[in-house]
Amino acid sequence: MEISVFGTGYVGLVQAAALADVGHQVICVDIDPRKIAQLQRGVPTIHEPGLAEMLERNLAEGRLGFTTQASDAVLHADIIFIAVGTPPNEDGSADLGHVLDVAREIARLMDSDKTLIIKSTVPVGTADRVLAVARETLAELGKGMLNVSVVSNPEFLREGSAVNDCIRPDRIVAGCPDEATRQCIAKLYAPFNHNHDRILFMDNRSAELVKYASNAMLATRISFMNEIALLADRLGVDVNAVRKGMGADSRIGYHFLYPGCGFGGSCFPKDLKALIRTAEEQDVPPLLLRAVSEVNNQQRLVLFRRLQEFFEGDLRGKVIALWGLAFKPNTDDMREAPSRYLMEALWAAGAVVQAYDPEAMTECRRLYGYRPDLQLCATRDDCLQNADALVICTEWKTFRVVDFDLLRDKLRSRLILDGRNLYDPAEVARAGLHYRGIGVPYQAPAA
Ligand code: NAD
Repeated sequence: MEISVFGTGYVGLVQAAALADVGHQVICVDIDPRKIAQLQRGVPTIHEPGLAEMLERNLAEGRLGFTTQASDAVLHADIIFIAVGTPPNEDGSADLGHVLDVAREIARLMDSDKTLIIKSTVPVGTADRVLAVARETLAELGKGMLNVSVVSNPEFLREGSAVNDCIRPDRIVAGCPDEATRQCIAKLYAPFNHNHDRILFMDNRSAELVKYASNAMLATRISFMNEIALLADRLGVDVNAVRKGMGADSRIGYHFLYPGCGFGGSCFPKDLKALIRTAEEQDVPPLLLRAVSEVNNQQRLVLFRRLQEFFEGDLRGKVIALWGLAFKPNTDDMREAPSRYLMEALWAAGAVVQAYDPEAMTECRRLYGYRPDLQLCATRDDCLQNADALVICTEWKTFRVVDFDLLRDKLRSRLILDGRNLYDPAEVARAGLHYRGIGVPYQAPAA
């Protein structure tokens, strides 16, 4: 099938590569010429395991193309994905500017019927708005005889395993207005729907809410566990034992019950805000959703507060080694990352950050530039030079096995604050270090 994709971010690029990989002819369009030039050379603009190989293969075999010309994309395909960003407005609602611009642009350029598939995360009612905008534009241009179908097809990929999630989705949710569109979606996704039927057809408004409700549910589990972890800290209880005990109940399960230094990324915080806004607009008090968000706002500052406590309120001139900048492992994405809240608080308090991340260093430099209180280090051990304490914000594999004797000798205050509960507290204490995880009882270091 001939397919076009508007937006080559995490969602659009991965989706396009996955569709090309099963044999569809795909053209991607983006308004960012730098991204397009890089992608035309076959160099991924994001870090996702497996993406580079997929890009190279499909570019070489001529199934995947990149352009800044919307007309090339619109004329190429009858099926067009919209995968542009939907950032938060000031009031928390999703900014639909890019989505509606694309809908207008497609209507302006199209000369045959099109199916528009909305991959962006958008509030309930957006598919109807996209259809209205497209029809309005067509009518203005005297092309009212052309037909547009709009499908809400939210994306559930997880950054860090985006390629795998796209190829092997748990479910494909599609709001389909009619039988012809259903058949089109079934054919499009057949290669990903081989093993058993994963497609859930429903109406567009339901499909739109599935996405927000799913993210809100996952965020709720994280905030819930973070609150339990704070309580466990006070009670001297090990939250990991509690987590395992809870997870063993098949009604609860183990997923998304890990306490930590807060959730981040481009989706959970933004989508929660948008859902809260939707509920407010409908006069449904979003009591739980607000609490989930507020718990997370507090949790992102837990590590900073503990540093303040340890250094008795004076962080001026303290050198903090920071392992992990990305909001989660296997990505270079730092949008809303807990590391950013920590670094910004540390800088405001007069501390210096020496940071290392396996993939997000370039992104960190892009965000913060060169400043005297940020040193980006070539290795995780380089961060430890003259550092007072070590803080861990991201659970990259490369941080899992460490030489605690080396850490004890390097860290002036012998303090590790672990926002991801990577280590055995008893082992760290035996090495003579102060160690605090999230919801893990403190053990005094061996003398
Ligand atoms: P992104 O910011 O990484 O990429 C969006 C891209 O769209 C950018 O490259 C931008 O230049 C491009 N763009 C903007 N306007 C355009 C236009 N008029 N024409 C062509 N391109 C245009 O965003 P993302 O992370 O890929 O997310 C896209 C959408 O998918 C959002 O609504 C997001 O909430 C949703 N989503 C994201 C994820 C994720 O893990 N990142 C997962 C599921 C859903």
